[in-house]
Amino acid sequence: METKIHVLPEELCNKIAAGEVVERPSSVVKELLENSLDAGASDILIELEAGGKRLIRITDNGFGMNRQDAFLSFERHATSKISTAADLFALTTLGFRGEALASIASVSRLRLTTSDNDAGLGQQIYAEGGKIKNAGEVGFPRGTAIEVRNLFFNLPARKKFLRKEQTELGHAADVVTKQALANPAVSFRLQNNERIMLDLRREKGVRERVAALLGKSLLPDLLTLERHSGEELQLTGLISQPQLTRSAASHIYTFINGRYIRDRVVQHAVMQGYRHLLMKGRYPVVVLFLQIDPAQVDINVHPTKHEVRFREQSLVHDFIAESLQQTLRPAEWLSPATGDLLVEKSKDHSTPPLQTQAVNPGNWVQASGSVREPSGLYSQSVTNPAQNHISPAAVVSPSPPSFYQSTSVGKSVDAAQYTLPGSEASGFFTRLQILGQYHQSYILCQDGSDLILIDQHAAHERVGFEKLRLAYTAGTIPSQTLLFPEVLELDFNSAVALGDNRHELENLGFEIEPFGGKSFALKAIPQLLGNRNASGLVVDVALELERVGRTGQLRESIDEILILMACHSVIRANQALATVEIKALFQELDKIDFKANCPHGRPVMQRMTLTEIERLFRRQ
Ligand code: ADP
Ligand code: MG
Repeated sequence: METKIHVLPEELCNKIAAGEVVERPSSVVKELLENSLDAGASDILIELEAGGKRLIRITDNGFGMNRQDAFLSFERHATSKISTAADLFALTTLGFRGEALASIASVSRLRLTTSDNDAGLGQQIYAEGGKIKNAGEVGFPRGTAIEVRNLFFNLPARKKFLRKEQTELGHAADVVTKQALANPAVSFRLQNNERIMLDLRREKGVRERVAALLGKSLLPDLLTLERHSGEELQLTGLISQPQLTRSAASHIYTFINGRYIRDRVVQHAVMQGYRHLLMKGRYPVVVLFLQIDPAQVDINVHPTKHEVRFREQSLVHDFIAESLQQTLRPAEWLSPATGDLLVEKSKDHSTPPLQTQAVNPGNWVQASGSVREPSGLYSQSVTNPAQNHISPAAVVSPSPPSFYQSTSVGKSVDAAQYTLPGSEASGFFTRLQILGQYHQSYILCQDGSDLILIDQHAAHERVGFEKLRLAYTAGTIPSQTLLFPEVLELDFNSAVALGDNRHELENLGFEIEPFGGKSFALKAIPQLLGNRNASGLVVDVALELERVGRTGQLRESIDEILILMACHSVIRANQALATVEIKALFQELDKIDFKANCPHGRPVMQRMTLTEIERLFRRQ
């Protein structure tokens, strides 16, 4: 009798398995690097052509294979790393499934050259689409080289999904970065089209490796973490102090028993460790290694081994979160005077909040006589006490420290560029009766019999964003030249993203020049930023560009970048505001649309009715 069901041929099985393991060139790099590390290599060379689409060649100085093993390594479910089911829970190697080589071979033209001896005698095997075409002896030093050409040459549908060279290279660099962080004692070199992309020599420890990969300038802000819970759990690594943050979680690197993983539980625990310390939407820089009894964790959840399952999930979660908290607690960011967390102190604002008359203008005139801004963007008018109304839209760039120089001459000209259109606005916000400021973060107002609470940071951000957007559409955003360019060191992907887009960024007021390797010189910044930390913004912008580079066009993300700029340029919470400043802010809020939310989507304002308040006091 004829059956409907049939067992698939081996070749097709391999292709199906490859679908899970080999998504793109970087997946091949990941698998081959794991094999090299499992073979005890101390030097690994990764050569790519066309971001790995044309060629991936990985050469290591590990222990290599003999002739028989070399042949066996191509077989599916052939591994030297485990033999019994029990071994699955006592893993000490990165690989164990025995399917990477078979999978990769089935979708490429693969040449394996390997030697397990010091006599220089090696083996070479060449396979196409998983079929061995020829094999023989060659001279080769101890170690292994695996060359993967024309990935997906026999799977055109998959091949179509591959992205442009730069994107694929970026993914591969990501993989190398992760392995390199976990193995500082191993040297890695990544080349693309014979150009050296990453050159990492052997290092003493993870700190040195982090400096080489993510930038030396991070080091002062990284705390060393070392904690353990009995014999079972051990956590080591580097975590950023709360002032060093990123706009994306991509710099949270977590490893379990030396394996990079991206696990929700671990990620959550890390963020929990930083609870109350970071602004919303900000992420720390973290490189953490968890050592755990292999019996307590199941790695075999997903073919790419990026996810894990813990036997005692909450134990691990709490251990990680507490370890971070303990390490962060004694750090310097605790403001000694107040004990408040993350206070961005108003440096040059000595006036108490809510002064009802124009604040002593002398306060804002420097010895040189130049105009000095009190605390934000909305204060030009107060420099002229005779003026009895506020011209809210006028923006004076903040007191330029000696190393800032405005590119344009007339301040008023620049200021005008940031003016929101429309004259004296009269609207909802301007009509509010201002009651005061709460916790230096919220403005309290009365509207009829309702109580209105306004988040000053969100409001400023909203206005700043609107101004930037106008300036951007009108032409370019005024910039200020730095007398001493600031040098920035980025990680590989951010550096590529910034390098690719630096000319576009000129329209946003940045002037950025390559400074060798992954470094850039920041020569001019948007004037709106004043003397605020511009390099922090550029790092954020680079991260955003990196994200965009992988998804679409820069144009589409201009808003995102403007939001970042607005966020970096405006007054934070915890800043005293004078009534004049509040009024100026309200004038501007009345001029813009969509003011109900800050650009991040957080509400700018909350309303409480008298009834609600009376209910609180049981009067209703
Ligand atoms: P796994 O790593 O899961 O065992 P692979 O298909 O990746 O499976 O590799 C199969 C086997 O080939 C490995 O178990 C190992 O013995 C051998 N091998 C692969 N790459 C190397 C290498 N670079 N050096 C030495 N041995 C290797
Ligand atoms: Mg492997």
